[in-house]
Amino acid sequence: MSEPSPLPPLREVIKKHGLTANKALGQNFLLDTQLLSRIAAVPGDLKHSQVFEVGPGPGGLTQALLQAGARVTAVERDERCLPALADLSDHFPDQLQVINEDALKMDLAQLFDTPFHIVSNLPYNVGSALLIKWLSNSEWPPTWQSLTLMFQREVADRIIAKEGSGTYGRLSILAQWRCEAKLAMSVHRSAFTPPPKVMSAIVHLTPKAQPEGVNPDILAKLTQTAFSQRRKMLRQSLKGLPGGLDALADAGIDGARRPETVSVEEFVALARFLSK
Ligand code: SAM
Repeated sequence: MSEPSPLPPLREVIKKHGLTANKALGQNFLLDTQLLSRIAAVPGDLKHSQVFEVGPGPGGLTQALLQAGARVTAVERDERCLPALADLSDHFPDQLQVINEDALKMDLAQLFDTPFHIVSNLPYNVGSALLIKWLSNSEWPPTWQSLTLMFQREVADRIIAKEGSGTYGRLSILAQWRCEAKLAMSVHRSAFTPPPKVMSAIVHLTPKAQPEGVNPDILAKLTQTAFSQRRKMLRQSLKGLPGGLDALADAGIDGARRPETVSVEEFVALARFLSK
């Protein structure tokens, strides 16, 4: 069998297939192959691993993942990208499957029955919704082994924030109560074509054991109630939550504290009392 011809640079791929960036689809492409290889290395050795990628676009990150030896299932909404991805698939036989769908509608349990990693330069308009969906998985640990995701810097900061910081809130607790969440790298806006208005960052999340005796829905309701009135003391905001004041007393948490001072572990302790 003849070797496939070398892949053209991404700028040429974009030009050849007329992939002018569509703002409504959150299209900001990464073209720097060194940066793309560094992102693909964040989850660790991907040789023979399964990867799910949202929004491959012209295929820069996809190519880096395939070069790292991963088998990639990529879901892309924009059908203009499909011919470029088909070229990539020809180049890496049996390594790439492309699905033309909306990632928000996909049921990952139907796609994967063995462990996989999720790696994506997410479209900003659906990034948080996808993260919340993956973090809210009913099975824990989930089938995904890690998330390596690009966000606007401000969202990345909220995901990894610790108590006491201005960005700490519901997203921090949802991410950290049963995951390790780390900032993997900052990415300057100039790395994208076209450059977005804001800076970006890659966050890496890995599942950890779920604390025992905590109903995830109760933890979600508790954090929603506490942070919907961020400036209020806990005894004020939790008054309306059945058992809220008793849980504060049982967990030994001073009701005069404000929610941003309460650690993830303390929210988990409160949720455990409420889950009884
Ligand atoms: N992976 C490419 C890169 O790094 O250069 C493109 C990233 S671009 C920020 C986001 C991609 O997600 C675009 O290709 C866009 O068409 C696609 N996209 C947007 N919304 C989507 C959705 N709901 N489901 C699947 N793909 C989506």
